[in-house]
Amino acid sequence: MADQGNIRLAVLTSGGDSAGMNGVVRAVVKAGILKGCETYIVREGYEGLVRGNGEGHHSKPGSPILASGHIIKDTDPTLVHNLRFGDGDLLKDGTGDYQSARSLKGRYIVRVGWDDVRGWLAEGGTLIGTARSAAFRTPEGRLAAANNLIKEGIDCLAVCGGDGSLTGADVFRSEWPKLVDDLLNAGKITKDQATKHGHLKIVGLVGSIDNDMSMTDLTIGAPTALHRICEAIDNINSTAASHSRAFVLEVMGRYCGWLALLAGVAQVFGGADFIFIPERPPVGDPWEDEMCQAIQRHREVGKRKTIVIVSEGAHDSKLNPIRAEHVKDILTERLGLDTRVTTLGHTQRGGRPCAFDRILPTLQGVEAVNALLEATPDTPSYMIGISENKITRVPLMEAVAMTKAVAEAISAKDFAKAMELRDPEFAESLEGFISTSTLSQDKRLPKNQRIRVAIMHTGAPAGGMNAATRAAVRYCIRQGHHPLAVHNGFRGLLDDSIHELSWLGVDNWMARGGSELGTNRTLPDIDLGAVAAKFQQHNVQALLMIGGFEAFTSLSIMEQGRKHYPAFHIPMVHLPATISNNVPMTEFSLGSDTSLNALVDACDAIKQSASASRNRVFVVETQGGKCGYVATMGALATGASLVYTPEVGMNLDMLRSDVKFLKNRYGVDVKGKSEGRLVIRNEQASSVYTTEFITKMLKEEGGELFDARSASLGHTLQGGVPSPMDRARAVRLSLKCMSFIEKEYDIIHKQKSKTKIASPHSAAIITIQGSSIKWVPVKEMLEHADLKNRRGKTQWWTEYKGLAEALAGLPQLTDL
Ligand code: ATP
Repeated sequence: MADQGNIRLAVLTSGGDSAGMNGVVRAVVKAGILKGCETYIVREGYEGLVRGNGEGHHSKPGSPILASGHIIKDTDPTLVHNLRFGDGDLLKDGTGDYQSARSLKGRYIVRVGWDDVRGWLAEGGTLIGTARSAAFRTPEGRLAAANNLIKEGIDCLAVCGGDGSLTGADVFRSEWPKLVDDLLNAGKITKDQATKHGHLKIVGLVGSIDNDMSMTDLTIGAPTALHRICEAIDNINSTAASHSRAFVLEVMGRYCGWLALLAGVAQVFGGADFIFIPERPPVGDPWEDEMCQAIQRHREVGKRKTIVIVSEGAHDSKLNPIRAEHVKDILTERLGLDTRVTTLGHTQRGGRPCAFDRILPTLQGVEAVNALLEATPDTPSYMIGISENKITRVPLMEAVAMTKAVAEAISAKDFAKAMELRDPEFAESLEGFISTSTLSQDKRLPKNQRIRVAIMHTGAPAGGMNAATRAAVRYCIRQGHHPLAVHNGFRGLLDDSIHELSWLGVDNWMARGGSELGTNRTLPDIDLGAVAAKFQQHNVQALLMIGGFEAFTSLSIMEQGRKHYPAFHIPMVHLPATISNNVPMTEFSLGSDTSLNALVDACDAIKQSASASRNRVFVVETQGGKCGYVATMGALATGASLVYTPEVGMNLDMLRSDVKFLKNRYGVDVKGKSEGRLVIRNEQASSVYTTEFITKMLKEEGGELFDARSASLGHTLQGGVPSPMDRARAVRLSLKCMSFIEKEYDIIHKQKSKTKIASPHSAAIITIQGSSIKWVPVKEMLEHADLKNRRGKTQWWTEYKGLAEALAGLPQLTDL
């Protein structure tokens, strides 16, 4: 990486706090240092910029830093990338814990070092403080802010906040040349300073629990807020069922109904009964009738619980607010339901970030530094976004303008436009909610278009399998199709363990881990002829297989079997679900988010224990077969120091250099402030260098510096309750599978001949690739599969092993 000389880069958090903001600060600081920049944090958002540092309080760039008895100078040639260990300014001035940032009296722009942001991935809120700054909204305030930045020699700024904060950032950037001129004319800065800092580089990262920013699929903190909502509902679930109660839940979201919508889709009750979001007010007039009819229908089929979710910004089509209390009164008076209101309020903001709110800020923080360092006076300011699984750069002001346009469309009662301006996933989720929560006879297709769809789980259980099944079943019933559950995979099929599922029969499946249908690894080639005969016997007209590598292999076997068995000339789809995430070509499988969250929870607890004994290394073993996805992404999400994967393997040279790294790492720790560290090892990274071997080796080599222990996460990684992301993804992908089946069924049955021929395209896998969802025929996927190692030939995440280790200091410290 190029050394950026004395580029000084600052990061601030602004507006409402959200989980993951600390991850942004950590990533920007570490990536900045890795690129050779000097890194600063600005405390208390824009207010800190306006206040700056009092006279005589400037950080001293380039000053020696004391670390564990060594004087490490920034100019030390061994520290190629200006890496600073030990106490940076942030800790030196305070009491020694991270909260000390707030006790840095009179200093708001503070230089920070590598270890100042240690452990921040797991912390909720923002440790550098945030504020709403009235002063920054004024030209005088922004002039003071520019002066303070130039005095510190900073002209690169990463801002993490909502649309207000990003608007402020853009205003600041566009005004910058004028502010510099004014400061020069007022004699506050020198000509040299004016020339050197004539251009402000700015980048925005979206920290907002509402997921209310356009041009990005997710904002930092929204996934954690969704976790909190689902956990809260989980906690009142039993009482609702016991007393046959109704609950009205108010969730955050002034202009954006994402939290309410996703909670409605993913929440643990097995789907809410009704939701109110700002973008799509209820169509019924009066809406009270529409709501009561929907809930009445659900009660009539035997539902014991009623859940209504209300966004804080919900309103009717005339923009009259819809309040939780009013909804409660209606349910009590009209339907006689014992109804309670729960307002989740600030519990939605707090708490430890979920796995995604650690990975996303890390990847976006690194991208933000790249964008800053590549910025020229001619490039626009960027906002870092995400589209499906791709980190993107989008013009900041375009994103802000589009976000504002949603609020304007809502104010103008143009709800169709508001929906249009949200990303496609939002509309799909709403469609998903409607088709899985609304029991309606009106949508049923004519009899000749109704399909008998067999649904089967194959391979090991994974979070989200049941949610996907539930969505498919409900969609089928709504359309008039027949959802046939095949129990225990192909073995169950051969035993005729197959029966039609009902609407209510799957009601509670959303939150259930494991596989309600039962699953195993048996492939159809156990007796392909018999499998085809069972398809014929039960008149199976389409197949949805939910599972891992086995499901893909099974699909391939049956597709090839079409040569001999007409029963396989039907649409057959595979929805990937496996914690190993080893299905080729798709970037995510159902269950992989749940298992990452299980890993993060376990590692947080392990790290705490390792830190309590100050200098312990924990070697954590993960599942994953021959695929290192969980280990690698787990390392990125937990800030592990080293990760071992089957793809890269292990050898003696590597171990020798890793031991050296850990020794150097503990060697530069400030005495008494060592931390527990994690090494994550996939179970099949090596058959020789086992977890036990590595642990013993580290124990032996660590000597006085560190001790080592091991922990095996085993089947805990399958997770108990599926994560909200897995549930929401399950619904979305499952519904796409169903429309694929309908389309392909139609194509096959339009054929005039008596013998129907299914094209190779009709046996396909639904995949997430970059920023889109793509169908891949199984024939094509075979070319991309490494059948021996049961994974894809190429995998999108492999480069993150290097990133996780770089953020732990591996490349720099090994050569120290
Ligand atoms: P949230 O989504 O949590 O509300 P936000 O970033 O939208 O976060 P705001 O209060 O709107 O929160 O903005 C945060 C800060 O950004 C403001 O206090 C102000 O200092 C600055 N800011 C917002 N809009 C502007 C603007 N037009 N010009 C200058 N500064 C602004």
